Amino acid sequence: MNIIISMGRVISIANQKGGVGKTTTAINLGAALSLQGKKILLIDMDAQANSTSGLGIEPDLTIYDLLIKDAPPASAIRRTNLDNLHIIPSDVHLAGGAVEILGLERREYLLKEKVIEKVKEDYDFILIDCPPSLGILTLNSFVGAREVLIPLQCEYYAMEGLAKLINTIDSVKRTYNPDLKIMGILLTMYDVRLILSKQVEREVRAYFKDKVFKTVIPRSVKLAEAPSFGKSIFEYDIKSKGAEAYLSLATEILNAS
Ligand code: ATP
Ligand code: MG
Repeated sequence: MNIIISMGRVISIANQKGGVGKTTTAINLGAALSLQGKKILLIDMDAQANSTSGLGIEPDLTIYDLLIKDAPPASAIRRTNLDNLHIIPSDVHLAGGAVEILGLERREYLLKEKVIEKVKEDYDFILIDCPPSLGILTLNSFVGAREVLIPLQCEYYAMEGLAKLINTIDSVKRTYNPDLKIMGILLTMYDVRLILSKQVEREVRAYFKDKVFKTVIPRSVKLAEAPSFGKSIFEYDIKSKGAEAYLSLATEILNAS
């Protein structure tokens, strides 16, 4: 008889390109999974702290204190408006923190060893919102994760930089984390009125085949508005196309596992 030990899936949401929908996906996929009864921890690894403010959290202790000051994870973990969704907030200190980390021992393993390993059993999913770079913070998130979800904006040059991202993931896999794999590419900001969106989708699916999520996230003003109210799309407008899309992504992920 096999004994299956249930342990949290750790997913890094990454793309060094800015503004492609990493944070929007971290918040709303986290919220969607939590509404399906899963326990979720979102780790904000970006000094811009958009996941933190987008969930209406005023940071006190942050990921900076955990990585640099050795504060225990529980001291920074915060509840959100959604029962099963917790967050480790970030703030602007993490920008300097990224420089401080470079001088620390085992600098690539800080997130894994000081945070993820200590809380992994308390959650079904840990989602990491990465900054728009392939620096030490994103590297920490690749070392700590099992899977990478890559949001790709449906625009010109959508695939620009993707080869570099995939090379980085491969090199982390070889050097630090043999278990790391690409979970999937998520097409974001899809505009049904634009031929360009269709072309990008066709091209990305032709190249990456079943590594592309079936669910596509539409361009939706509601998704862009929700964070200014500190709300996920489900609290802001549960009937919107954006809410529907992130719920469908959560279902796709749960059904695939
Ligand atoms: P950064 O690289 O700066 O961290 P990011 O990849 O996290 O950016 P987001 O912050 O999620 O990207 O999105 C960038 C901008 O686009 C935000 O203003 C966000 O509200 C908006 N946006 C994201 N997804 C959508 C969408 N599907 N429809 C409309 N607007 C969107
Ligand atoms: Mg972001």
